[in-house]
Amino acid sequence: MGKLRCSFCGEVADENRKMIRRGDLCICNECAEDFNDEFKGLEGSNIERQQRPMLNPMQIKEKLDEYVIGQEEAKKTLAVAVYNHMKIINNPKLSKRNGIQKSNVLMIGPSGCGKTLLAQTLAKIIKVPFAIADATTLTEAGYVGEDVENILLKLIQAANYNIREAQKGIIFIDEIDKIARKSENVSITRDVSGEGVQQALLKIIEGTVASVPGQGGRKHPMQEMIRIDTSNILFICSGAFEGLNQIVETRKEAEGITYSSTLHEELTAADLLKFGLIPELIGRLQVITSLDPLDEKDLIHIMKEPRNSLIKQYQALLKFDHVDLEFEDDAIKSIAQLAIERHTGARGLRTIIEKIMRDVMYLVPSNEDIKKVIITQETVLFNDDPVFIFEDKNVS
Ligand code: ADP
Repeated sequence: MGKLRCSFCGEVADENRKMIRRGDLCICNECAEDFNDEFKGLEGSNIERQQRPMLNPMQIKEKLDEYVIGQEEAKKTLAVAVYNHMKIINNPKLSKRNGIQKSNVLMIGPSGCGKTLLAQTLAKIIKVPFAIADATTLTEAGYVGEDVENILLKLIQAANYNIREAQKGIIFIDEIDKIARKSENVSITRDVSGEGVQQALLKIIEGTVASVPGQGGRKHPMQEMIRIDTSNILFICSGAFEGLNQIVETRKEAEGITYSSTLHEELTAADLLKFGLIPELIGRLQVITSLDPLDEKDLIHIMKEPRNSLIKQYQALLKFDHVDLEFEDDAIKSIAQLAIERHTGARGLRTIIEKIMRDVMYLVPSNEDIKKVIITQETVLFNDDPVFIFEDKNVS
């Protein structure tokens, strides 16, 4: 039997994720639950949508631990930020009356260390619509490129055009460092267009009622507009911020500061300003957290431990063919080392493992005698065949 993959979230079946299949379509238990919630929300437009389960920050972090390895500081910071977000979206009127404002988040960390994964997992835990945008694709109004409003459209689409739901969602904006104003820190010849994009983003981040073209693309006078209030949308911005470390170090030197702690504890608004973020935007990203690069040990954990780890996914896939899959410890270690050489963080793991597994996935379904496949260090390093264990005999 081939792999069963949910047609709605794309996740693969495993012991925790059950699938129902009808013809070409599959749905997993989690998506089915979400749809059920949504139907309840549609029962009469005056009925408030069911309140979301209120998890406390520690419970949120525990859930994050199931999917994200390491990054303890970031998890705690985000757990608190999201807990507050839930309070606000569950009690919008009361929050407004008490003047409670959302705290948007800035995540700083190298590529492939889990920034997107953290944001994505959070949205899943608290069951709010979630959209990802890449700041580098955005342009100031009037220029060729994507309008900032399109980010909101993505969120509206993620909420199935339920605006009330979209207004409670989370938007993750990646590569925010790439739209920094360049004149401060690098060279005066580089453009300053990033500033216009920051201004445009600022408006939706701080909270506004935006008009979004329903079909996407550029605004057009004939086009139907969707109105959405962004006051309670949680924005999580993220970037690698290369060079920010030096800015902090230089300032510390000038100030005669010798102690060293984590980046986010030392970082000041002035450093971000020098990096090229506009002060108004810095002011709207109240919560700052930094993520660590992943080391060999982390990468090994990432392959083995999360609920949907790569190895577990492949094991589950091969289980459909009644075949066991084992990665020897040395093999896993070598994969981690290869990924580190590539400087792509955990992102490199998938590419490496997929390459190793391609021939196995090709061979196994047409060979009923195979009972077990063992991936060895030689398979990883020298492309040797894995060890195949057959019904009675052991042939490699
Ligand atoms: P980025 O920091 O560039 O946003 P991502 O979150 O997109 O990186 O990570 C890419 C992939 O690598 C994720 O989909 C996940 O499979 C894996 N990954 C990265 N960091 C972690 C982590 N800390 N724990 C578990 N998996 C991770």
